[in-house]
Amino acid sequence: MSIQQTLSIIKPDATKRNLTGKINSKLEESGLKIIAQKRILLSKAQAKDFYKVHQERPFYDDLVKFMISGPVVVQVLEGENAVSKNREVMGATNPAEAEEGTIRKEFAVSLEANSVHGSDSLENAKIEISFFFSRIELVS
Ligand code: ADP
Ligand code: MG
Repeated sequence: MSIQQTLSIIKPDATKRNLTGKINSKLEESGLKIIAQKRILLSKAQAKDFYKVHQERPFYDDLVKFMISGPVVVQVLEGENAVSKNREVMGATNPAEAEEGTIRKEFAVSLEANSVHGSDSLENAKIEISFFFSRIELVS
């Protein structure tokens, strides 16, 4: 067990439906601590860059369009095994397959508009956190 940090994004489908607080409650109830947070509107270039690992996938262009369709809340979560803990709380990518009680089961609209992003490994968490935050913005 180790204390980790991971990047979370509350996606436009959720900010538009005013679900930031409800999603933050789920994160906090799981024991994760929100140690940095800001609401921003991504540019197309930023969204393309953030999701560049998916640039060959058929859903890439639509995903980028979706991610710039409204504000997002980017946040850093900290806690024991934060990377996998957050993935657990988020639920499966496809809300139809997400477990009861997970964020995506409760709030996601579709496979694309699935309310939250979470880093998928500790290595990617570090890269994704530094994409949005500088060290002085992280208050443990
Ligand atoms: P996750 O967000 O669970 O890590 P991925 O990294 O595989 O999932 O995909 C990134 C995001 O791209 C998903 O959260 C979802 O918004 C979107 N996405 C993934 N697969 C599809 C798909 N088949 N069709 C449309 N959008 C998709
Ligand atoms: Mg992913």
